Amino acid sequence: MPPTESALPKVRISLRGVNRLKSGHAWVYRSDIVDADGIPPGAAVAVTDQRGKSFGTALYSSSSQIAIRMLSPEPVSDLSTLLRRRISDAITYREKLVRDTEAYRLIFSEADFLPGLIVDRYHDILSLQILTQAIDANTIRETVISELVSQLSPASVIERVDPRVRELETLPPRASGLVYGDKTATTFTMNGVQFHFDALEGQKTGAFLDQRENYAAAAQYAHGEAVDVFCYQGGFALHLAPKCRQVTGVDSSRPALEVADQNAALNVHAIEWIEANAFDLLKDYAASNHQYDTVVLDPPAFAKSKRDLDSALRGYKELNLRALKMLRPGGILVTCSCSYHVSEFSFLEMLASAALDAHRTLRLLEVRGQAKDHPVLLNVPETAYLKCVIAHVT
Ligand code: SAH
Repeated sequence: MPPTESALPKVRISLRGVNRLKSGHAWVYRSDIVDADGIPPGAAVAVTDQRGKSFGTALYSSSSQIAIRMLSPEPVSDLSTLLRRRISDAITYREKLVRDTEAYRLIFSEADFLPGLIVDRYHDILSLQILTQAIDANTIRETVISELVSQLSPASVIERVDPRVRELETLPPRASGLVYGDKTATTFTMNGVQFHFDALEGQKTGAFLDQRENYAAAAQYAHGEAVDVFCYQGGFALHLAPKCRQVTGVDSSRPALEVADQNAALNVHAIEWIEANAFDLLKDYAASNHQYDTVVLDPPAFAKSKRDLDSALRGYKELNLRALKMLRPGGILVTCSCSYHVSEFSFLEMLASAALDAHRTLRLLEVRGQAKDHPVLLNVPETAYLKCVIAHVT
């Protein structure tokens, strides 16, 4: 059947934009938009090249540098039906791949062909994040929420708002809050470990679900005295506790450590929590010759843009160098980076250089990424961001 002409407003893109789509990417940048005159913010649009040849259907943002996020290579006549089907497909994907957890990412934007939408499940509460003008439209919000509720019957759905995202998308300010039901706190089990969850508190949508499989992997090798640096609410520390003689968690956020302590109580583990700047603490530990058998490093993203790459790599190297100096022979280093701009190759190169400077030998046990509920689209490199290296140190 020949493709039917789309009834949607048309956005024309440059040859560079076309080539980007042909490479399998899902975005076209504003600099590659030739003509989007009169297109309303957040509209569904038909994408064409300069001669009018169609490249499918996309969601348009009038303000983001990412002007076009592709929805389908085909014309789309019924957006609501397409969204409902994509939500249902995302749920089925997790049913097949996700085990041993009540908390996981249900919808990961482009990687689930729902650009601009993130939904995390924490047992009976769903937490959603809207990242674009298109998904923020009332009709789309209502479709998304009603489909999630009818498929999953959650106790509640919470919207977590990042004010910077709304500003970038020139959307009016909005507070985080309930959009369905009235439950705002729950507990969930992940890999047999229990966690408290308060839907309106915490960083991201509440937890770092992308590390779920890495927690279990790290626990396989952890032993002796362990320190979880940048521990947040204790994700790694709680998983290491049954395997280690002693576990310490370090973070600069007091509210995060308070939840970490409640989580330790829930699991009946004794873990020591230290509120400190990790860089200063590791320096002190090095000076006082503190030694550990297992060190976890999971810092926040040091490179928020390409420009920060060099300083980010210096930051990672400093941390890893200190960790390596603190590890006893036979120790385990679990070291992570969630900066998309730091590639796995550069991260390993940084680690190799830190090992040389620390006069230690590293044997790689595992080079890991984000959990499978945060799918990576091979042709959209931006969907792969987390690195987690587990190494044996002599
Ligand atoms: N490992 C955690 C996630 C860590 S996110 C988990 O699996 O849940 C990064 C953490 O680093 C945040 O909790 C943040 O509060 C903390 N942080 C940021 N800068 C810090 C610093 N200079 N010293 C210590 N902690 C810091």
